[in-house]
Amino acid sequence: MVNNKIQAAEENLIHVYNRFPVVLDHGEGMYLYDTDGREYLDFAAGFAVTGLGYDNKELNEALKDQIDKLYHTSNLYYHENCGKAARELNRICGMDRVFFTNSGGEAVEGALKSARRYAYTKGTGRYEFIAMEHSFHGRTFGAVSVTGHDSYREPFEPLVPGVRFAKFNDLDSVKNLVNDKTCAIILEPLQGEGGINLATQEFMEGIRKICDENGILMICDEVQCGMGRTGTMFAWQGFGVKPDILTMAKAIGNGIPVGAFAMTEEVAGNSLKPGDHGATYGGNPLACTAVKKVIEIFEREDIVGHVNQVSPYLTRKLDELVDRLGCVAERRGKGLMQGLKITKPVAEVNRRCVQEGLLVIQAEGNVIRFVPPLIVEEKHIDEMIGKLKRVLTE
Ligand SMILES: *Cc1c(COP(=O)(O)O)cnc(C)c1O
Repeated sequence: MVNNKIQAAEENLIHVYNRFPVVLDHGEGMYLYDTDGREYLDFAAGFAVTGLGYDNKELNEALKDQIDKLYHTSNLYYHENCGKAARELNRICGMDRVFFTNSGGEAVEGALKSARRYAYTKGTGRYEFIAMEHSFHGRTFGAVSVTGHDSYREPFEPLVPGVRFAKFNDLDSVKNLVNDKTCAIILEPLQGEGGINLATQEFMEGIRKICDENGILMICDEVQCGMGRTGTMFAWQGFGVKPDILTMAKAIGNGIPVGAFAMTEEVAGNSLKPGDHGATYGGNPLACTAVKKVIEIFEREDIVGHVNQVSPYLTRKLDELVDRLGCVAERRGKGLMQGLKITKPVAEVNRRCVQEGLLVIQAEGNVIRFVPPLIVEEKHIDEMIGKLKRVLTE
């Protein structure tokens, strides 16, 4: 179907996304609707962003009120919610100091700069980063430099120097790369883009130990796995392994562009100083209102409790597909961030799912990724499994 909205986009936007031929119009709860009124069950959440689903009236009202009041100030001044959002976010993510960004990539960028700045303050001469194979940290130069996919890196080389890649969940491969120039180790406790790969307890503890013994900072990138998705507010809390620097974005604003990097008092006190870093929009009144309200709703509605209550059902249903369908090889992940490794071409399966009114995301290694809004219920899981089964068995 030739749609002039699609045509306008094709002709005027730089072609960096392979979009599905769908023009979305509005959403409600777990569902999105296109301009023709077709319904889509959403197990993608706009890339693990809309944790509270769509059209949350309370959040909408708070945002509308803030727009009418004030939505930009610059960071030369304080505003009503900047301190409140920061305090609440620090409280739930277990860190001491936070900086608001506009995206996940920027959060990673800030985390890397903070680690370098810490080494500079301490005069250690450390500047190298150890990152993981199959990691994804965003598209800015620093973030791409620590992203463990050649296809994202190669066209833009040379990248930030001093980055080396270890095998995820292989402590020896990390240890082999540690030297007296290592500044920080960055990892996702649960890799999203890279195929839904969960860190082992041993790996998380081992990284912490390597960092402690060698004066290295541990950076956890929880842009995707944070904010309730794995059954704790942040994934590191599920391991009991606290990073020195934590990056967040995606679900913390439920879709209002906001990210953050946070750190311990020890890092903050020896890292960025006035003038070292900034973002004109970062932590603007709208973004901070979103963060503050999202946290308030998460806690009042016990979203994390709900994730723990409903996710075993998702696990069971996905495991059934592994048992029953020859083309489903393996289930991966935790909580409401799961994946199925399949043997059919995942891009085609994804496209067929969209036609069936089901939104999912592909991940590396021929994996279908399920990152639904966290308000998902068993009936939605049943509906998703029905649609998926239809696609996988045709
Ligand atoms: C999405 C993602 C990013 C980048 O976030 P953007 O908001 O797209 O810049 C960084 N790290 C991880 C783990 C992500 O999933």
